[in-house]
Amino acid sequence: MSEVLHHERNAPVKRKDLPPDMVASRVDQDPDQEKLHRIVVVGGGAAGLELVTRLGDRLGRRSRASVTLVECARTHLWKPLLYAVAAGSLNPGEYELSYLAQAHWHGFHYCLGEMIGLDRVKKEVRLGATLDGEGRQITPERSIGYDTLVIAIGSVTNDFGTPGVAKYAVPLETPAQAERFNRRVVNACLRAQTQTEPVRPGQLHVAIVGAGATGTELAAELYRTMREVVSYGLDHINPERDVRIVLIEGAPRILPGLPERISDATQRLLDKLGVEVRAGARVTEVSANGVKLADGSFIDSELVVWAAGVKAPEVLSGLDGLETNRINQLVVEPTLQTTRDPDVFAIGDCAACPRPGTSVPVPPRAQAAHQEASHLVRQIQRRLSGKPLQPYTYRDFGSLVSLGKWSTVGNLMGFLSGRSFFVEGLFARAMYRSLRLMHEQALGGTRRAVLSFISRALAHRIDPPVKLH
Ligand SMILES: Cc1cc2nc3c(=O)[nH]c(=O)nc-3n(C[C@H](O)[C@H](O)[C@H](O)COP(=O)(O)OP(=O)(O)OC[C@H]3O[C@@H](n4cnc5c(N)ncnc54)[C@H](O)[C@@H]3O)c2cc1C
Repeated sequence: MSEVLHHERNAPVKRKDLPPDMVASRVDQDPDQEKLHRIVVVGGGAAGLELVTRLGDRLGRRSRASVTLVECARTHLWKPLLYAVAAGSLNPGEYELSYLAQAHWHGFHYCLGEMIGLDRVKKEVRLGATLDGEGRQITPERSIGYDTLVIAIGSVTNDFGTPGVAKYAVPLETPAQAERFNRRVVNACLRAQTQTEPVRPGQLHVAIVGAGATGTELAAELYRTMREVVSYGLDHINPERDVRIVLIEGAPRILPGLPERISDATQRLLDKLGVEVRAGARVTEVSANGVKLADGSFIDSELVVWAAGVKAPEVLSGLDGLETNRINQLVVEPTLQTTRDPDVFAIGDCAACPRPGTSVPVPPRAQAAHQEASHLVRQIQRRLSGKPLQPYTYRDFGSLVSLGKWSTVGNLMGFLSGRSFFVEGLFARAMYRSLRLMHEQALGGTRRAVLSFISRALAHRIDPPVKLH
């Protein structure tokens, strides 16, 4: 797969040239790649895919190292877009990127599979077998050898053990879950349209648990898209009377992680739209008919989304003795190396990276994932040249929250003053879109990011503005 382009200054890093502690035993690699230093990245999300893409370009294509991505999915969709997939305003097919194609274009190997274990002595990642929809095996259970391992498997929803969540609520962790929720919304509208009896209490009601950015953005977008779906001839439904969206938050205000001014501006807009906010409300149970709160009240709702809290995937707890915190994140040094094994790095949501001056680690956000990936590209190159690693420092550039077509609000950090300033409206929306473009640019270059942007803008002129099926 890799082109062999040998330059003096980019001479391949042979495994025999490396210190013994950086060389692992041979597993099932092809003979040409056998001699190269093996970099394995597990998880191709916001952090991992940017990392392998750039390492593939810099090292893989020049045969300076072998770069492999282990990923359990076949396509990548930037997670901050999931709320729009759930609301039906974004067609994931237009934004998904095939791992196989990306690997081919950028000089890395793509290995379909889920990491189920790790052997740090043999330096092997254990992958489970993958099966198709009919239970036939696609790839067998196998092990992949590494010299440098980067774990970037993101996070999953934390339901804090609340009864009924797993059975009745939809989380928004994957495109499949977001699409499943959207199908439920459209089906709920079609059901209400065709039934002979009147719309019952709770029908066409949506409870969104967790008023962080995801829950809040979903509430605003869903308000618009449900009306849009109904406007396509579903005349038995009166949105003002029948559709109800309730946003539930345990903290005293929505967007509790963001400055109060953003939270206040967002609250005002949601009030204006008629999205009901229940702040300071703790959910104790989710059932088929709705959500029970700690104060004993019950919110009838046909559809429940759980967007409250994250934790790292279960596979990390006790992963061959690596240190984890109470939400399963791998504890890392400022160099992003895990505390108990310098050959294993962790980045993105699954890493608990220390922040000087605070006991709270770097937050699980897309900008942290992007920064950590960029930092690690340079550090892995230093590691291969035998130079000491430099620490990573998180820079908070601010936060933006999209409230559908109505507004975008947020705060941006001033580069010179170091203070944050409030942004709203068109400027904020342009900044919000530029975040996604930056991710696309990191994966495919500026030309590709701009062309994709234009082609999607044109497609939106001819397609319905919401998904109707
Ligand atoms: C709905 C939603 C909205 C969000 N909105 C924002 C936002 O507006 N702004 C913001 O800053 N952040 C936002 N975030 C958070 C942001 O998406 C994450 O911080 C970021 O994606 C983390 O990147 P990551 O690479 O660590 O993980 P991810 O992007 O989640 O990628 C992890 C990858 O690992 C793969 N994987 C998982 N387990 C395994 C395994 N065992 N073996 C192999 N592969 C595995 C997954 O398939 C996935 O591709 C949002 C998150 C969600 C869910």
